[in-house]
Amino acid sequence: MFPAVASKTVEDVLFPGIAVRVERVSDASGALVVEAVSTGRPGRCPGCRKQARRVHSSYQRSLDERPLGLRRVVVRLWVRRYFCDRKWCSRRTFVEQVPGLTERHRRSSTGLTGWLRSIAVELGGRPAARLCRRLRLAAGRTRLLRLLTAPPVQGRAPRVLGVDEFAFRKGCTYGTVLVDVEAGRVVNVLPDRTSKTFAAWLKAHPGAEII
Ligand SMILES: [Zn+2]
Repeated sequence: MFPAVASKTVEDVLFPGIAVRVERVSDASGALVVEAVSTGRPGRCPGCRKQARRVHSSYQRSLDERPLGLRRVVVRLWVRRYFCDRKWCSRRTFVEQVPGLTERHRRSSTGLTGWLRSIAVELGGRPAARLCRRLRLAAGRTRLLRLLTAPPVQGRAPRVLGVDEFAFRKGCTYGTVLVDVEAGRVVNVLPDRTSKTFAAWLKAHPGAEII
């Protein structure tokens, strides 16, 4: 007899805690292609924050995900476009984002973006690009540097926010790195280490309970 163990679904393994259903995993020229469907509740309009009720359409977007072993992983994800029904809102429709997986205008998953940003923070441009090539992570030097200088704008700060300073290059310019302590990932990088910049960020991103 096998001991009783809680069995895991493929979603538990690939996308823990993320609202998607995996439809198919296949092979395409060396990459694992994971076809998935977003299953979360309707998103909120980025213009007015009202929760949507009507689906406009669906489409498939393609995301680079962290590799499994030495294999590249591409997620083909069906996401929904919603109507915003608020009369005064300037947006007629918007595309949902899947928390923990997608960000607006970004071709890599939130997880992969977090990896790339951490590597860029630790190593800077050229060495970071070399390490990414070794690890088969799709990211050139420009893309890595862009992650440092133009981090994604997120609406809210994580509940437990870690703040640390770092040097862009040893003894050179300093910046501030903001970390989601509970999720263990970098959420943002500020271009300097002044309290003024940090205070402005906190004002634009409320929600931190412990700093
Ligand atoms: Zn709206």
